[in-house]
Amino acid sequence: MAEQIKAENTDIDSKVESLIKASEVESGEFDWQCTFADYFKMVLSDPTIPKLSHVLTYEAIIEKGITINPDQTKSYNLFSDKIFGIENALEKVMQYFSSAAERTEVRKRILLLLGPPASGKSSIVNEIKQALEDYTRSTKGSVYSILGCPMQEEPLHLISKKTRKTLFKEFGIYIEGELCPRCRYLVRTKYKGKISAVPVIRTVFSEKEAVGIGSYIATNPNPVDSSILVGSIDSDKLDGNRLEVSGKAFRLDGELNVGNRGMVEFVEMFKADKHLLTTLLGLAQEQVIKIEKFGSVYADEVIIGHTNEGDFAKFSDDEQSEALRDRIIALQIPYNLRISEENKIYNKMLEGSSLQHVHLSPLTINSVSIFAVLSRLVQPSVIGASPLDKLHAYNDGLQRGSFNTEAEISKEGMEGISPRYVMNRISAVSSSEEVKCVTPITAIKSLWKGLDQNVNLKKKIESAQYSSLVLDTIKEYREMAIQTIQKASVDSFENSANNLLDKYIDSISSYLAKRNDLINERDMRDIERMCGIAEKEKDKFRKNVLEKSTAWKEVGRQFTYESDPILKQAIEKHLLPSTRQIARQLSEPRFAKQRVKWEQFKKTISSRLQETYGNCPICSDDLIVFVNHVLNTKKPIAKVPKNGTIEWNWPT
Ligand SMILES: [Zn+2]
Ligand SMILES: [Zn+2]
Repeated sequence: MAEQIKAENTDIDSKVESLIKASEVESGEFDWQCTFADYFKMVLSDPTIPKLSHVLTYEAIIEKGITINPDQTKSYNLFSDKIFGIENALEKVMQYFSSAAERTEVRKRILLLLGPPASGKSSIVNEIKQALEDYTRSTKGSVYSILGCPMQEEPLHLISKKTRKTLFKEFGIYIEGELCPRCRYLVRTKYKGKISAVPVIRTVFSEKEAVGIGSYIATNPNPVDSSILVGSIDSDKLDGNRLEVSGKAFRLDGELNVGNRGMVEFVEMFKADKHLLTTLLGLAQEQVIKIEKFGSVYADEVIIGHTNEGDFAKFSDDEQSEALRDRIIALQIPYNLRISEENKIYNKMLEGSSLQHVHLSPLTINSVSIFAVLSRLVQPSVIGASPLDKLHAYNDGLQRGSFNTEAEISKEGMEGISPRYVMNRISAVSSSEEVKCVTPITAIKSLWKGLDQNVNLKKKIESAQYSSLVLDTIKEYREMAIQTIQKASVDSFENSANNLLDKYIDSISSYLAKRNDLINERDMRDIERMCGIAEKEKDKFRKNVLEKSTAWKEVGRQFTYESDPILKQAIEKHLLPSTRQIARQLSEPRFAKQRVKWEQFKKTISSRLQETYGNCPICSDDLIVFVNHVLNTKKPIAKVPKNGTIEWNWPT
């Protein structure tokens, strides 16, 4: 026994020792120092080492990888699995960085992300910050700076103006910016002008440690004192000559100093004092941080602000802000408008939430997504078009006409319900221990109730719009519910659907290659007719489908029956039983001898719902009862007797 304890102790001792060692190695990983002369040699042999802030940031994002989609658009891996459904906005953000990295005028502009609450503005900035931190820890993204500089200054600033010209001509190395007052002072005094001996260190960016990533949250009321941005002045050290004063008295510890060579983030930008915003103007325009009465310091950093449309409009209307307005590239970050992506947002939020004890029916998630997306759509101005038409136009890609004017597109997704609101409402109905599963109607009802209590939302959405939001969502849920039961009534539907698609693709490729094997003209035409393709259009259609499936395979994605909306619809129509048949099978039989078959049918459906479609016993039963209700009774689930109220006809 004693022997055993002893052995265990030595085990623990050696484990502790190795863990501590690993920790020490890790924390000292970037402790590295050389002289400026050595650094200069490094740079001459690899001129990509010194990078301006926009280049560094752009590379940091790209370094995480790019995925090419079947339609040849790009997805940036940094944002995938974290930010959903706003690819167009992200593409514009990336255009800003790629252009700024080319040292165009764009780098002298502030990037402003403009959007409603929780649309992903902060998430985008957070991901970029994380990428910067990671990149500066890698060999490729290494950043070097002058030891002791509070602004982690680029050591090449030690090179004189004249020499810079030669460097650019002979090595293509571009140097911008002057030494900061602190470094200038140190070079003159401590290093006696001998720049080759100035120590250079490796700098790793860290927001927490205030290195390379600064941030300013403009709360209201906020301090007018600009030292929070430009750094404070040590009033005890204001004696002596100019060099000495600026070298000793400037603390260079403001957020803009922190962000030098990396980035600075401005949260709720226009809630900041005007005075502070003027400081940003100088930084963006001339790459200098102006310290009132004391001159200025060179700085190079990405400036990202975020705000909502209201604050931005107020700012833009102010004539005095024109100069700064010209320095801003404002990009809209709207809410997502695609159901599949909205589902991903909630699944992601649920992963990290306290709702682990509750089951959410997949159709619950779908329904709340529809509710949220519908609330974000601008009412279509085309006569006869409904928000649901628009929802489908955006989501299935089945073109059902055009519903948008240019002006409408720019407002789409800029208002409405945020994912955060939806999650709060789901939490509200699942807080009780007794709740084991949140069914779709329960969730929709909760979203509705919450709107009533939410003054902010209430102001924006009129009561009539409110209730139509609910009715439209129920309408969509009804369709999804029926289709889910239809699918569950077919033995391994997904397999059959994909087999059918594969057979079709094989046939058309034989057909188009003018081979005779595998061709079954009648089967091909069956599917095509369901797609609404006439005989004379079939060649063109087949060519399109084949091209599309090849494009998917080329980027390593599987082309399934769900990949193309038109084929999906046709295959579903082909394989699924009619709703009339489902209605008959679900309705309770009058005679006892038919009851066995009826019970068996429901049991089969229920077990398929649980095995294949992500339902639990509670929501699979709820779904079956719901579909029976909507198909076999005339009673609507919800009615709007008068504006502003809803009469529910479903137990929750
Ligand atoms: Zn410095
Ligand atoms: Zn459930």
